[in-house]
Amino acid sequence: MKNKRKLSLPAWIFIGMFAGILAGLCFLGNPEFTKEWIKPIGTIYINLLKFLVVPVVLFSIADGVISLKDLKRVGSVGLKTFVYYMCTTALAVIIGLILATAFKGLFPPLDSVSLGELTYEAKESPSVMQVIVNIFPDNLFKPMVNADMLPVIVISILLGAGVLAAGEKGKKIGDAINCMNEVVMKIMMMIIKITPLGVFCLMTNVVAENGPKIVGTLALVIAVAYLGYLLHVVLIYGASVKFLSGMSPLKFAKGIAPAFICAFTTTSSNATLPLNIECCNKMGAEPEISSFVLPLGATINMDGTAIYQAVATVFIAACYGIDLTLSKMAMVVLTATLASVGTAGVSGAGMIMLAMVLTSIGVPVEGIAIIAGVDKIFDMGRTALNITGDATCALWISKLEHKKSARV
Ligand code: ASP
Repeated sequence: MKNKRKLSLPAWIFIGMFAGILAGLCFLGNPEFTKEWIKPIGTIYINLLKFLVVPVVLFSIADGVISLKDLKRVGSVGLKTFVYYMCTTALAVIIGLILATAFKGLFPPLDSVSLGELTYEAKESPSVMQVIVNIFPDNLFKPMVNADMLPVIVISILLGAGVLAAGEKGKKIGDAINCMNEVVMKIMMMIIKITPLGVFCLMTNVVAENGPKIVGTLALVIAVAYLGYLLHVVLIYGASVKFLSGMSPLKFAKGIAPAFICAFTTTSSNATLPLNIECCNKMGAEPEISSFVLPLGATINMDGTAIYQAVATVFIAACYGIDLTLSKMAMVVLTATLASVGTAGVSGAGMIMLAMVLTSIGVPVEGIAIIAGVDKIFDMGRTALNITGDATCALWISKLEHKKSARV
């Protein structure tokens, strides 16, 4: 008998994820197969999402700026967004530090022999000032070609601001940007439709590759990080959604679920951006706000990454028998917040930026090798958290703007 009721996309994404876990368990002993045959299909899905990131960010932020209609409003929305992002990220680091310190006794110092064998080729992690300087592009096309999102954001904000400042003469360009945004969104919808398949393939491979490694101490550190993620969701996002946006947290959880799962499996905030915009708009965010706040958040707001960096720092320091003083912890709050701003919304970027945090407090960067093997598991949770934080901000700012226009 044919079942006439069609399942929704979120339902299919759920099914894809669970089927992927089951399939991954079946392939536990044979990750070669999944690597060769199943992962590439997931990679095609991620590639398609990635190729769309620059046009989505470029046109949606520029369009968002233009639709805010006056430069003053752009400034006020931008400032509120930035302050919200920085505060929630700093809170995330603090939650991570408190939790990791509470469980520190269970992280055993590793014997120096095995530490001596560690080799992690730290990719060069930029200094704090370098991160700030790199935000500003010295070329129009370079950041787009390299998918370097912070400068792309600056370009799109300036493009939108330029159109507004040009008044009547900028109107045609504004309309063109609006049309391009519409076209890009349509392409995005096509790609989103294959999310369940992408999620299935990626999940299968992750479980098949990492399943047996989730044991012992690493499992504990992973558990601490995930506890931090959970606390942050419940305490910070729960409060933000309920008290700032006036929405039931349950309704929010339901609305954000598709994007959450997409982030969990793709481990890329950028790749999840299209779906996140879609979910937020469905939950009642103003499209012009979400198209400004979310792309910005996908690049600069990384609460999950911040928690991970705090937990990983305490853990690696413990492995080397280094105790973190209060002043070092304060340094971690500062550098991890900045590192998460500089972290690109792509898979694994948070681990590279971890080097910046470790260096700032004198913990050997080679320690990253201890957790590098299971970084994917940290990354899944932290990315899901990263995009959820962006969504809470989009809902809050939308509510504020709503109230403002109602008053007017
Ligand atoms: N994968 C994360 C993201 O895209 C970044 C990270 O590695 O922490 O949000």
